[in-house]
Amino acid sequence: MTRTSPESRHGILVVGSLHYDIMVEADHLPRRDETGVGSRWYPKFGGKGGNQAVAAARAGAPVRMLGAVGADDFGAFLTRHLAQAGVDGSAIAVIDGVGSGMSVAIADATGDYAATIVSGANLHIDPARLADPALWRGVGAVVLQNEVPEAVNLAAALGARAHGAKVLLNAAPARTLSPEFAALVDVLVVNAVEAEMLGTAPVTDLATAQDAALTLAARFGAVVVTAGAAGLALVDANDRAFTIPATRVKAVSSHGAGDCFTGTLAERLTRSLPLGEACAAASAAAARHVAGG
Ligand code: ADP
Repeated sequence: MTRTSPESRHGILVVGSLHYDIMVEADHLPRRDETGVGSRWYPKFGGKGGNQAVAAARAGAPVRMLGAVGADDFGAFLTRHLAQAGVDGSAIAVIDGVGSGMSVAIADATGDYAATIVSGANLHIDPARLADPALWRGVGAVVLQNEVPEAVNLAAALGARAHGAKVLLNAAPARTLSPEFAALVDVLVVNAVEAEMLGTAPVTDLATAQDAALTLAARFGAVVVTAGAAGLALVDANDRAFTIPATRVKAVSSHGAGDCFTGTLAERLTRSLPLGEACAAASAAAARHVAGG
């Protein structure tokens, strides 16, 4: 077996979703059967997988992403954005006959919004691709979310096990996880809603986040429960529990805070930082993101 130096395991493989988001601004959300008139629209790179890949690259990690887009202009936009962010997109498949993942979100002047996501090509990732040893060269951690089929996540977690990489799951959006997959997760990251969906009591502050993390720690290697502007609670693999208050910032938008947090956390974990220190750095990066930085 070849010896692998710690430096060569600093890479991150993100397996997940890519969405072309169309953001519409209007003075009110349309009611049923109404055609509303908006004031502005713009396209945005999205998908939790894509956002986390970009965040990890910004944090300084070599990042490769495995995912799928359709053979359309939206897919070209997504792969171009990944390349510009310094993410290796050579494992993004272009699938004929299916559209790229996309969403339409309408936000009103108060910030209320409604959105519809179409997963499209994200549902067509072939799990067999995770068995390719070349994909895992230099990879210290794989980052997963719940916007692709669990068969893909399971194949990725098994690949990580086979190649000595850590498995970081951001279980978002909330869905039930099979025990087989859950057992392979080294670090689980969930927000308040997702924690509750996985069976905890409601999370409203750092104390309840701590309780939730302790509850989930019985099923996952280590657990981070984020609680928005309050901060986060964590239980590490040695069952040590901590809370970290969020950095106080003037919030511009908390949209995408969790993705920035998870991407940065992955980067710090591949540098072998203890989970508490990695979470503190990720929390600071998420606060900067929320402040518009
Ligand atoms: P998600 O975006 O997945 O719902 P959270 O809202 O819980 O996730 O945010 C993730 C992390 O981002 C928090 O634990 C915190 O560290 C940081 N964060 C979120 N909102 C704020 C805020 N208003 N001020 C400072 N930090 C924030």
